[in-house]
Amino acid sequence: MQTDLFSTASNRLTIDLSALKDNWLRMRQLSGKARTSAVVKANAYGLGVEPVARALASAGARDFFVASMEEGIELRGILADVRIYILAGLWPGHEKAFQQHGLIPVINSVEQLEVVRQAGWLPYALHVDTGMNRLGLSLQEARQVAASDAPSPLVVMSHLACGDEPGHPLNASQLSRFRQAAALFPDAEASLANSAGVFQGDDFHFDLTRPGIAVYGGEAVNDAANPMKPVVKAEARIIQIRSALAGDTASYGASATLARDTRIATVTVGYADGYHRSVSGAGVTVRQAAPSGAFGFLHGTRVPHLGRVTMDLSLFDVSDLPETAVTAGDYIELFGNAIALDDVARAGGTIGYELLTSLGKRYVRHYIGG
Ligand SMILES: *Cc1c(COP(=O)(O)O)cnc(C)c1O
Repeated sequence: MQTDLFSTASNRLTIDLSALKDNWLRMRQLSGKARTSAVVKANAYGLGVEPVARALASAGARDFFVASMEEGIELRGILADVRIYILAGLWPGHEKAFQQHGLIPVINSVEQLEVVRQAGWLPYALHVDTGMNRLGLSLQEARQVAASDAPSPLVVMSHLACGDEPGHPLNASQLSRFRQAAALFPDAEASLANSAGVFQGDDFHFDLTRPGIAVYGGEAVNDAANPMKPVVKAEARIIQIRSALAGDTASYGASATLARDTRIATVTVGYADGYHRSVSGAGVTVRQAAPSGAFGFLHGTRVPHLGRVTMDLSLFDVSDLPETAVTAGDYIELFGNAIALDDVARAGGTIGYELLTSLGKRYVRHYIGG
């Protein structure tokens, strides 16, 4: 039934679970001697936590990270016998749920550690902030924990602020501070690397790596070729094709002025689908920073987005295709194999992570390669 709906849907996503597994295995290989976990927070970066988590477990993942307890409980219903770490840690009153569902809080502060102590020491991971100033105990606080009667954490971890910029000096300084943090807890597994950190080489791998975006096919490192396989293809349908004359304007705010006689395809995707307004066509003032807007792809040709993205609809200039080649009902690829996810993100002044996690509810999702 899903396939029938899929073949006529206005908005559809094809999610390739075999590419996903290949990407995770690639991360595992690059992680060398370290074990490799899987980060499946935010509904597996928008791709659907149930099929994604099952696929990654079948590829060999045994450790999973999610953001919140609620995500952890959902994941526990999907995978009974994996370790599930909760990046937000826990709130007072959550102890029983953590125990009941076998969730491991990542302790980010002295206050959170106190909750774990009061609960008679639940198994926990300890996050030490090494320079991002977002979450985690300071090194000084970590030293006090190490000197106390607290049982060892299962994992001692930190997070890179500039992993996507391999030459950034903060990487070396976080690495050196993390070595000190890890040395305080010799019985814990040490974990520093997200996807970008995995690409940074052995020094960053320690005992457990935590890739997310690379597994989903996104770019982890700036200004480098992306070696990962695309996992998700997003498509929308052309409702109508219209002809407009040079000098006419199109979309809200008369935001595009046509330089030539133009055939415009009106397509069923808008900002309500996570196709952000900031990817609007070249020259549109909602997006000051990026030089050109997004492109779509159909019948072997890249076609530029025209004018402002609206809630449900986008316009593409299909004049470069033969008139007979394009018809109402055709699907246009928004990103996937021909248009890189991260190219659309760049057009909108954002990152692939944000495009994936804002994919709207209107997409019919179809999983292949499972
Ligand atoms: C989201 C997250 C990751 C995964 O990061 P990617 O850049 O997607 O690989 C790893 N560790 C922590 C603490 C995170 O919050």
